Amino acid sequence: MDMKFKIFRFDPEVDSRPRYQEYDVSAEPGERILDCLNRIRWEQDGTLSYRMSCGHGVCGSDGMRINGVCALACQKLVKDYSGGEVLVEPLPFFRVVKDLVVDMEEFLEGIRRLHPYLLSTGDIPEKERFQSPEDRKKVDDVIRCILCACCTGACPVMLENRDYIGPAALVWAYRFIFDSRDGGFEERLKGVDFPDGAWACVNHFECTRVCPKSIPVTRSINTIKRAIEKVFPRRPD
Ligand code: SF4
Ligand code: SF4
Repeated sequence: MDMKFKIFRFDPEVDSRPRYQEYDVSAEPGERILDCLNRIRWEQDGTLSYRMSCGHGVCGSDGMRINGVCALACQKLVKDYSGGEVLVEPLPFFRVVKDLVVDMEEFLEGIRRLHPYLLSTGDIPEKERFQSPEDRKKVDDVIRCILCACCTGACPVMLENRDYIGPAALVWAYRFIFDSRDGGFEERLKGVDFPDGAWACVNHFECTRVCPKSIPVTRSINTIKRAIEKVFPRRPD
């Protein structure tokens, strides 16, 4: 297939403003968008910058916006873009470091603030902290998160409220709030119980639509809200 790629370009060290650059690529229908970017970089323009690592939807490093939808470039196939035109842009709301590479530091710091590790209580067990298959099921979905930031890039609330902690942070909050081995249940709920925390989500479902790991992001956020309401019931005004 003859494909036309229109790619966002911006090098803050030399460009005064972003621009778009076009590249023609010949690709097989089963090839990935990442393959096309690699071909552009290796055969046409070595200055094009983007992140990639595993190339198989595991590392989460090649999140970008493709034809207006946040996605992993390694999970999207050429045949998904039958019109032959592909617009490639960096994830929205993130500071552009260069071209398709965005600054993830604030995003990751937001997750670090939630203590993304087990907070143990009680005596240290001799062998392991046992978890039943039923309890494990409660976090089975969210444990798949690869920190690609597609959900945060797609969330319309982020456009209006940059203080919103965002869907990915809430997925990580969920992952430990509902882990039967964690000892910080109430503290963790308090950690997301504020206007720019879980309550800023207004159920747009965009995060759920774009998550490359099929995590029910919105449902997880709503489960957190219900837990907050149950544990810290508000008095009526
Ligand atoms: S469901 Fe919530 S977090 Fe997801 S896109 Fe909508 S507002 Fe954002
Ligand atoms: S919840 Fe899904 S879209 Fe969001 S960071 Fe995790 S894997 Fe990516």
